[in-house]
Amino acid sequence: MGDVRKKEKKLLEEALKALKNAYVLWGFGVGASVLAQDGKVYSGCNVESWISGLGICAERCAIHHAVLHGNKKIREIAVVADAKNKSEIKPCGACLQYIADFAETPEIKIVTAKADGDKILFETVKVKMLKEMLPEPFRK
Ligand SMILES: [Zn+2]
Repeated sequence: MGDVRKKEKKLLEEALKALKNAYVLWGFGVGASVLAQDGKVYSGCNVESWISGLGICAERCAIHHAVLHGNKKIREIAVVADAKNKSEIKPCGACLQYIADFAETPEIKIVTAKADGDKILFETVKVKMLKEMLPEPFRK
């Protein structure tokens, strides 16, 4: 995927900055950034705990950051993982539901990429729509 648009590149770069602060005990570092309804970018990183499931993924951390600043909707999300040996980078099911809860539309983009140290591996960038990844989110 050589044709990463400027907006996606900016989001990925912000996610990479957040990744550097990831608190990793047993997994791998992840950074995420969301473009929120106010037009600003908010980032988050994963924060692990020794108790599996108690920490938080980067995606939900970034969404909390956007909410903290008064946003209720997001327009796009990028995720960068320091996991060049993993087969695929994608949000977990809990995060997909969370993204759906805060997405402006089911058509928002989820941009993922692997990182190697200080650089994004642009050849690993994937862009998918939320509705492709979670076609039937939970709704009350
Ligand atoms: Zn997750």
